[in-house]
Amino acid sequence: ATQPYDDDNVFAKILRGDLPCHKEAESEHSFAFHDINPLTALHILVIPKGKYVSWDDFTAKGSDEEILDFVKLVGKVARDRGMHEQGYRMLANIGKRAGQEVPHLHVHLFGGEPLGPMLA
Ligand code: 5GP
Repeated sequence: ATQPYDDDNVFAKILRGDLPCHKEAESEHSFAFHDINPLTALHILVIPKGKYVSWDDFTAKGSDEEILDFVKLVGKVARDRGMHEQGYRMLANIGKRAGQEVPHLHVHLFGGEPLGPMLA
């Protein structure tokens, strides 16, 4: 089981509009914005609007509608940015031991430049 959801996490603040962000796209149940500390030329985060800490939370408790909406927004952002043509990386750190710093589920999209091997 994952930790309880913390309403004070930075992505919750971004969703509430309490913290500014560079918005990329939005759908009914999901939100996409640029990482504040981009690791590649293009580094976008996609999050569900619901209060889910982990992939486990999301897939166990999220509705089919939320899950489909999220998967589709990830695809749309990549498509709209031409990432499918260039090649890109999709990644989610799940849990503190895997390097998850913000306890609100997020998928990283890395692209905009040639990417090296995953574990360099
Ligand atoms: P994690 O390590 O949890 O997988 O990734 C968290 C990501 O969120 C990091 O890449 C970090 O740069 C990004 N991040 C942390 N705080 C903020 C913020 O306030 N705004 C934005 N846009 N990104 C943030």
